[in-house]
Amino acid sequence: MSLSIGIIGLPNVGKSTLFNALTKNKAEASNYPFCTIDPNVGIVAVPDERLRKLAKVVKTEKIVPAVVEFVDIAGIVAGASKGEGLGNKFLSHIRECDAIAEVVRDFSDSNVIHVAGDFNSESDKETIKTELILADIETMQRKVSSLEKESRIDSKRQPEHIFAKEVFSLIEKGISASEVNIDSDNKKIWLKSFQLISAKPHIYILNTDEEALTRHSRESGNLDSRVKPENDNVDTVVICAKIEAELAEMLDTEKLEYLKEIGAKEPGLNTLIKKAYDLLGLQSYFTAGEIEARAWTIKKGDTAPQAAGVIHTDFEKGFIKADVVNWKDLVETGGWTEARTAGKVRLEGKDYIMQEGDTVIFKFNN
Ligand code: GDP
Repeated sequence: MSLSIGIIGLPNVGKSTLFNALTKNKAEASNYPFCTIDPNVGIVAVPDERLRKLAKVVKTEKIVPAVVEFVDIAGIVAGASKGEGLGNKFLSHIRECDAIAEVVRDFSDSNVIHVAGDFNSESDKETIKTELILADIETMQRKVSSLEKESRIDSKRQPEHIFAKEVFSLIEKGISASEVNIDSDNKKIWLKSFQLISAKPHIYILNTDEEALTRHSRESGNLDSRVKPENDNVDTVVICAKIEAELAEMLDTEKLEYLKEIGAKEPGLNTLIKKAYDLLGLQSYFTAGEIEARAWTIKKGDTAPQAAGVIHTDFEKGFIKADVVNWKDLVETGGWTEARTAGKVRLEGKDYIMQEGDTVIFKFNN
């Protein structure tokens, strides 16, 4: 399962710097058949310390992490929804992504020009928000008028037309599609088919000053813990793209040394990747044996057969049952045999809802 996160923002806010740092964490392409070769798309490994521990107890050298896809979408400028800059082209790239990560500039550097003269993270956010909402208004205008025609020919389309009008009037008031009240499966399907940008999960990445970040992380011991602005219900991750770019070039030992020096526990990118994974409603389960220790991506709430289907569709069709153990129990007991003896391995059937950190052996019919 490959889910993608589009990196957006005004020009010169650090999007490319961040994207390049992210793709240094590039996942081994051969493990992921869906890997694209588009230079603007980076397949990024989801950092997960548990995999290393699992690999150790099952005595394998090979570790295959879960991945998310980041897409570098070039800068949006005021007027993009009316075709300014590369306008509509960018907006169509954003529509194809599953979630949006918006980079907001919070660093001062007189050598780096800001499109609006001076940077102000709050008004920059407003500029982007306005463009995205304007694009959605235009989309809904077209949708409402085509549904009006269709429902005249086929009355079965009327409920969708009424719903589209409701969504349109909310969006016109500046309310995002993610806040639209959904009380039926049909509405869920229709809203998805409208492909609205404001329906997508959204996070802010505050790209902050090297000095401010270093000072702050020394005080708090965490690169990510700067207080986010009040009244802001969108998740914010604070990073310094320049530091992340430097970290990405370093060997692991140098990295640890540098992080210690700036007083941080882990690179800001790790926090960002984990948060993005969570934002998409995803979780990992593991398989661990002699061949490899591997994390697989599923949606929260997926059943055991759905989880098996991520490995191979035949596994889902022929699913019989699954041996399931929490990763920690497997590590603490010292292996599958020991975990079974200790009574930690459960036998689960078709209705089992997968839990974060489950480690599984599937039994299936060929
Ligand atoms: P984009 O247009 O949003 O992709 O921005 P870039 O990543 O190309 O960055 C624009 C300029 O800002 C480049 O010269 C970067 O080196 C610089 N830059 C990016 N992030 C930071 C940062 O955290 N601090 C400082 N001082 N400069 C940065």
